[in-house]
Amino acid sequence: MEKVVIIGSGCAGLTAALYTARANLRPLVLTGRQPGGLLTTTSVVENYPGFPEGIDGYELMVRLQKQAERFGAQVQFGTVEAVDLARQPFGLTVDGEPVTAETIIIATGASHRHLGVEGEHKLENKGVTYCATCDGALPVFRNQPLVVVGGGDSACEEAMYLTRFGSVVYLVHRRDALRASKIMAERVLSHEKIKPVWDSVVTEVLDVKQDKVTGVRLKNLKTNAESMIDCAGVFVAIGHVPNTQLFKGVLDMDESGYINPRKGTATNVSGVFVAGDCADRVYRQAVTAAGQGCAAAIEAERYLATRNA
Ligand code: NAP
Repeated sequence: MEKVVIIGSGCAGLTAALYTARANLRPLVLTGRQPGGLLTTTSVVENYPGFPEGIDGYELMVRLQKQAERFGAQVQFGTVEAVDLARQPFGLTVDGEPVTAETIIIATGASHRHLGVEGEHKLENKGVTYCATCDGALPVFRNQPLVVVGGGDSACEEAMYLTRFGSVVYLVHRRDALRASKIMAERVLSHEKIKPVWDSVVTEVLDVKQDKVTGVRLKNLKTNAESMIDCAGVFVAIGHVPNTQLFKGVLDMDESGYINPRKGTATNVSGVFVAGDCADRVYRQAVTAAGQGCAAAIEAERYLATRNA
């Protein structure tokens, strides 16, 4: 039986691993399908303290994993398919295999939100993508007009990154002001290759018949006018949905699926703690996720100490 199982290997999960490993609890970290989490798909992280020049997202996560492993964390590639939190020890099914745990730290993060419009799903990986850093450099996007959808930091970051490849980058946002941080918004709006398209939503991604992206259909929400933009790629960056399906009906969560901790990082099930984007609809930063991972680790450690006293 494991003393601590950490589900997820983003900033929250690996920081929880670092702290529980240093408490000699030999945590088992189950990476999920995307080891290192969403940060591995970011280019430069400029606001993680301690890196004045910024640090590549992938490199940050590799370093964090190494740091946790140095103190005894066991990082295992695996996906949790089911959990039984009704009795102690807790039961998990990981790629078909049973695992038992005295405590669990949930750090499952969040996934990209989809637009839910016609053509989006069918043209995924055929011009529709959710990660500019992963796909932006593909030949199909070179010197072509590209569309980014969203108005937050992610959309701005994607748009900036894509200026390296596209001939022009249209930033389609449903309002007339960006949600992104000031510094990002200013960079984007002053870039000669980025053209904002305000008050507009994508209503369809074209062209399913040609089996590739050739453009988007847009609607202006203020005037209801419809228009089209020719483009070779659509980069969707409209936020995230928490990865908490596994715990639905068992753990307290809000209507959007974010887990509601009861006190600190403790959930409504004693011995189960939560950290990072799966429980945070407010801050959602790498550094806050890391902080919550640290807090969850300390609380799990105290829980085990009291239980085994
Ligand atoms: P976000 O801040 O939630 O922004 C999502 C954007 O998508 C918003 O502009 C929103 O419009 C729009 N949107 C949501 N649903 C939509 C829909 N169905 N159709 C069209 N547009 C839709 O998400 P994010 O940009 O991924 O950022 C998440 C968190 O990570 C934030 O706290 C952000 O600061 C942080 N982050 C930081 C960095 C960085 O500092 N380098 C980089 C990336 C992310 P409205 O504005 O109208 O709501």
